[in-house]
Amino acid sequence: MSRRGSALPPLTAEQLRLALTLSAEDVRSACAPLADLSEAELGAQLLRAVALHAQRSAAELTEWARICLDFGRELAAAAPDSGDSLEWAAAHGIEVVEQDADVPANMVIAQYTTRPARIVLYPQTLDFAEAVIDTLGWRAQFGPDPVRQLAIEHEIAHRLIDGPAARELKRRLRLTSLRVGRFAVLGHVVGADELVCHSYAQSRSPFPGGSSLALAVALNRAARIAIRTARPPAPPPLSLTPTPTQTPTPPAGNPSRRSLPWAS
Ligand SMILES: [Zn+2]
Repeated sequence: MSRRGSALPPLTAEQLRLALTLSAEDVRSACAPLADLSEAELGAQLLRAVALHAQRSAAELTEWARICLDFGRELAAAAPDSGDSLEWAAAHGIEVVEQDADVPANMVIAQYTTRPARIVLYPQTLDFAEAVIDTLGWRAQFGPDPVRQLAIEHEIAHRLIDGPAARELKRRLRLTSLRVGRFAVLGHVVGADELVCHSYAQSRSPFPGGSSLALAVALNRAARIAIRTARPPAPPPLSLTPTPTQTPTPPAGNPSRRSLPWAS
């Protein structure tokens, strides 16, 4: 989904919204299967998107996801219930700001920075996420204007899993990165903290029926489809010189590939 390295300027909010409207049917069919997945399976999908985990089994990723989701729920249960995430942020010296410029290319809704302690919300991506909820007919589960609230709670959770909580999460995930005799060094599971933060935010939401994880996976899919709709691939340049045919030869004994030579 990231367009890092592309020379193209980022799409405007209007272009993204229009592309989402034009591709609404494709987005709905791409996201329909998510309804059949458990929270742990959705979490495993997000972990699967991390290149480092490409060789991990579905069972291992689902188990890691389950541990992260439980941990996020525990963090939420232990958090002092201020009732208002903005008040909590202010009381902990965290500034919450909105930023229209320099939106990260990979559809980031919000970011937490430590110096200064700040939660940055990107309204363009936030509006896109709200439009995806409407496109998918998920409004009843999420309630009105849920993305800002989920995003702020998610970023607060990033703050909470610094230090001892991060060590406890690592202990539970038990990824051994190095073993010397009977001593094992526990490694960091990339993406695990994201799942904890999704779980924390969802637990703190007044509409817990709206799955933060399902929304994250849906956003990835919707953004990919909308960007493809707004920027269809350019046709190859015309050449006046005859060239040999570029049609790939399908592997023998694979009828489906033979009938669809362009499938990848
Ligand atoms: Zn995050």
